Amino acid sequence: MTQRFILLYSLFLTLFWGMAQTDVSVKRTLKLMGSRFEITVVAPNEDIGYINIDEAISEIKRVEKLISSWDENSQTAQINKNAGIRPVQVSGELFSLIERSIRISEITDGAFDITYASLDKVWQFDGSMTRFPSTAEIQNSIAKIGYQKIVLNPNKQTVFLPKPGMKIGFGAIGKGYAADKAKELLVSKQVKAGIINASGDLTTWGTKADGGNWMVGISNPLNREKVFSWLPVVESSVATSGNYEKYIVFNEKKYAHIIDPRTGYPTSGMSSVSIFAKRVELCDALATAVFVMGRDTGLHMINQLDGVEAVIVDDENKIHKSTGIVFEKNQ
Ligand code: ADP
Ligand code: MG
Repeated sequence: MTQRFILLYSLFLTLFWGMAQTDVSVKRTLKLMGSRFEITVVAPNEDIGYINIDEAISEIKRVEKLISSWDENSQTAQINKNAGIRPVQVSGELFSLIERSIRISEITDGAFDITYASLDKVWQFDGSMTRFPSTAEIQNSIAKIGYQKIVLNPNKQTVFLPKPGMKIGFGAIGKGYAADKAKELLVSKQVKAGIINASGDLTTWGTKADGGNWMVGISNPLNREKVFSWLPVVESSVATSGNYEKYIVFNEKKYAHIIDPRTGYPTSGMSSVSIFAKRVELCDALATAVFVMGRDTGLHMINQLDGVEAVIVDDENKIHKSTGIVFEKNQ
């Protein structure tokens, strides 16, 4: 009898404790990969939440070490340094990232291309450019661009850039990849929910501490402070490429920091592109690609891809969307 009472009592205590323990949302904002990252987790208490966030940060730093082109010791820098010289053996992780990048180039007809990077000295979007580059400079760089030129050897896991001066860069996919990896790590550690937001390229899992869906606001193109519409992001991701942060103006025309690898010139004609899909790596890369492809070609491609949607704002501030997007609340 007493034993049964104790059993019931402890069962009651467990249930009560379980109900009384409410999850909390813990958030940290910091600079990683040269961008502002905001990491939010839903955890049983603050301490656990901060530990989880630290784990995510270490993972993002690890990815940065692998893919950064300016860190001389990174595998990516080694590939670039050995362009035209010899193949470089890399980790399986970097090898598959390059393979996936090439696949995205194929889907986007070369609008997304990690070999765009030989142009990164020709165009600078930090305000330091004083003249428009010459046609010769651009032609010279274009000759080194082309994802088809990358030589991959899956057996030896080597990457070879055959032309001297050829270069790869993960500027349009790296933040997304890092956010996916951070999420993957936290999910594997049973963190029940969260959001990894890399300057607007974000991925979510679970629900908010109050049970609600994670939502993203699409800015009103005429007033960036105002949200035009809210869209739920459930167990999925969104990334945005825009021309309002990094751009140059020449002859009163605004050029985004996204380059058309086929012409060697920065793109114009779009204000922002947001892509919705399961993984933020794909969203990140496709947002850049659609920016290059332009409204019609871009939307046409997105409408053919399963599980991928897009919201585009053109340079006349008109909003266009792919077939699966439904705006819930207009303002
Ligand atoms: P943001 O960094 O603002 O999120 P994106 O994800 O669109 O913007 O990435 C733009 C960056 O990607 C550029 O700064 C450059 O490093 C690189 N990049 C530019 N054009 C291309 C391209 N056509 N294909 C692949 N990478 C590109
Ligand atoms: Mg991108």
